[in-house]
Order: sequence, then structure tokens, then C-alpha cells
Amino acid sequence: MKIYSFPRGGLVFDDPTAPQKNNSVNAFLPAVSVIPLGYSSAGKVFPVVQTGEMVREGMLIGRASGPNAVNVHATVPGRVIRKVSWNDRYGVGNDAIVIRMEGSFEKLGRKEDIYQWKNLSGYDLQRIISDLGIVEMENSGRPLAGMISTARSENEKITLVVRCVFDDPWLAADYALCNERLQAVVEGAAIVAKACFKVTQIIFAVSYHEKELGERLMKEAGNWEIESFLALTGCRYPQRNNRELELALRIFEKKEKQNFGSFLILSPAVLSAANDAVKHKRPILDRYVAVGGSAVKHPQVMKVRIGTRIGELIEQCGGFVEAPYRIATGSPLSGREVMYLDEPVRKNCYAIVAMSKSQAADSAEGRQQNCINCGECRMVCPMGLDPQYIYKRIRTLGIENVRAAGCHGCGCCRIVCPSDLLLSETILEGNQETANG
Ligand code: SF4
Ligand code: SF4
Repeated sequence: MKIYSFPRGGLVFDDPTAPQKNNSVNAFLPAVSVIPLGYSSAGKVFPVVQTGEMVREGMLIGRASGPNAVNVHATVPGRVIRKVSWNDRYGVGNDAIVIRMEGSFEKLGRKEDIYQWKNLSGYDLQRIISDLGIVEMENSGRPLAGMISTARSENEKITLVVRCVFDDPWLAADYALCNERLQAVVEGAAIVAKACFKVTQIIFAVSYHEKELGERLMKEAGNWEIESFLALTGCRYPQRNNRELELALRIFEKKEKQNFGSFLILSPAVLSAANDAVKHKRPILDRYVAVGGSAVKHPQVMKVRIGTRIGELIEQCGGFVEAPYRIATGSPLSGREVMYLDEPVRKNCYAIVAMSKSQAADSAEGRQQNCINCGECRMVCPMGLDPQYIYKRIRTLGIENVRAAGCHGCGCCRIVCPSDLLLSETILEGNQETANG
């Protein structure tokens, strides 16, 4: 069994405070939902409903303007009670529509209509995906329709990569989704392949310790007329990053004597959302989220309505065992900090981690020591950078004067630093400052 990995750096990351990946529970429906209007800093969404108006489940409530924005839909039926705005921890402005649940659900608990899509053109499929606001369901939440356009404009053929790489236990939500909705993931891949025109092959990139999942995906893919490959990847973090995954897949390409052209790499979550949009005319109403961390009593993977407040989910996990020191969405290695428990689950939120002070010790003020020149940060940097050197230059020359080209913010350097220096945060902040300047 050949396993494909990126060549340098990275680390094995385990976290016993993450939830088990094999089961999921349905979160309670929120009495009040806070539906975010934006998923990207570029592009605006304009509300199309007024305060006091009744909305149906799945109804359009925000219309996108510009290529990087996506339409927004009500995830519960109810009454619009207000619009809210707040600045997050990073100073980024957020707008949301608040809906108080009322009335009956049109989709939840009902047998969904099935729409045939095989005779639709790639443009039709892309239009449905665009209308229903389908986004990449992690990172910055880019619109899938825009990614399809970019893929079409490539000069060479495209290989669609289904990324089932679990290098981090906080990807438990993706695993639960694959386990429970495998058919939707594979059909979603077939839909996106058709929408892109130039996709001739699909690679299922699966962590080697989930080989059985890979075999199930390949079996399901046998129902579709498209050539498919299974590539077993290593589990060293950050194997799931596009750059590191592509490096591993280029080795696979050589071994298989193939020409894969360009890669379009998508997660199982966005593919199942594309399936639901095209096959059931269903926007993203809910998603799987891994909720846990050392401050949470009963970590679990939950199926959550978009717009549910983070505090409500933690309550459903038994609440806090102690006051959280830090709460973040996404992996603790690279996630975004949350300031308020009233912040809602967004389409691109795959995990919520609430850390006690001891788990978040590396961020605790006053714990940082002087660099002891151990070289660990250099050893783990997958980009071959010298984080220690960059950090020292930033400290000497000022954050606005040092740019670390290539740093993709994986956080490996910060994790291994025995002096608890905030290497990745400082380097990323430096990159942000020089970009703005
Ligand atoms: S955060 Fe940047 S500098 Fe640190 S290991 Fe990752 S790529 Fe290298
Ligand atoms: S890991 Fe920390 S202590 Fe070691 S060389 Fe890098 S910055 Fe210095």
C-alpha cells in the first residue's frame, strides 16, 4: 500500500478534547437564529426582507452583489425581528438577519423532491449552485460557482479531488458527513465535474487510516461514468492544505503514469451541499460541526442549523466544565477566535473549540520565554521557512516591514515552540500589515 505525503515538515497532531468522529447528533432547532449575510470580505449581500416580515425555510433573504458574495437563505421559518451588526475579534464587520422561529418547516422532516440533473447543461448546474448560495464550507467560504468558473477557464484538463484527509481530529465533522452521506458526496462530485466541463477524472484523496472509507467512496463512484482513483495520503498535519495535498498528488500522478492537469480540490461538505442544491433545490440550511475542547463537558459532532448561536450548542454539550479561556471556530491550530457566545454558526464553520486555560497555555500572556535556538520551528515548517528568524526580524524591524512570502499560516511552528512564542500569529499579522501597507 503506497501512501502519498508532502515532502517536508508538518507534525502529527492529536487532541483528546476533540469529539468522537463516528457519531453525530441533531442539534436543537434554535428559537432565534442569527443568519450571517457575508462569507467573504469582497462582495456584498443586500437584505431582501424587512423587519416584521414572515419568511419560509429556505427562502432567499439576502441577495449577493459581486463575484465573491453568495445569496443567503432563511434556515428556519419565522419572523424577521431585527438586523444586527458587530465587529469580530479581528475588527471585521459582520451583518446578520435575526429570525424568531414560527410556523412550519417545508423541508425538515419531509421527503424531499428529487430533480433530475443529468440532462442539464454545465451552465444550468452552475446557475443553480450560484442561486442557492453554495460555498466552500471551510476557510474563507469562497463561492463554489466562482471556483467552477475559474476551473473552466484553465487551459488544461481538470481533475476533481475529493479531499477526505483527516490530519487533525477537529475534522471529525467531515468524517461524520462522509460516513452518513457518502452517496451525496459522490453524486455532488459528479455534478461539479459536469458543471466544470473539463473534469475528466476524480481522485478520492483519503487518509491511509481511513482506507475502508476510501473503498466505499470508490465503490459508489463506480455508479458514475467518470474515471476515478483512490489516493491514500499521509496523516501528518497540514496534509489537508491544498498546497500540501497537491504535492502529494503529483507524486501519485507520476506513480500512476497519468496526466491529471490542474486540480480542483473540494471537501466532502461542499460536494454534498452541491448535491442537495441541484438534486433537491435546497440551499445550505445546516451542516456538521465538531463541538468540543477541554472547557466543554461532552464534546460531540452535531448537525446544526446555520445561524444557531455558539452558546446554545455548548449548552447542548452539557455546558462548560470551567470558564473557557479561548473559543475558536475551526481547528485550534489555525482557527479564528470568537468573542461572543451569541456569534452564529456560519456555512464555513466546521468546528468550535472552547479551551480551558491549560489547553490554551501557549497563548497565555506572560508564558513566552526567550528563543532557545532549538530549531524545532524550522524542522516542522512545510514551506521551508525559518520562523525563528522571521519572528526576530519582525520584533526588530517592526511588523509592517517584514513579509514572509509563502507562509500559509498552518501554525506548526507555534505548536512546537518550547518557548511558547506566538510565531505563526506574528508572522501572519506581519504579512497582513505589509499587504495593507
Ligand atoms: S505558520 Fe508559516 S512559518 Fe509557521 S510553520 Fe506554518 S508555514 Fe511555516
Ligand atoms: S521553536 Fe521556538 S525556541 Fe525553538 S528555535 Fe524556534 S522560536 Fe526558538
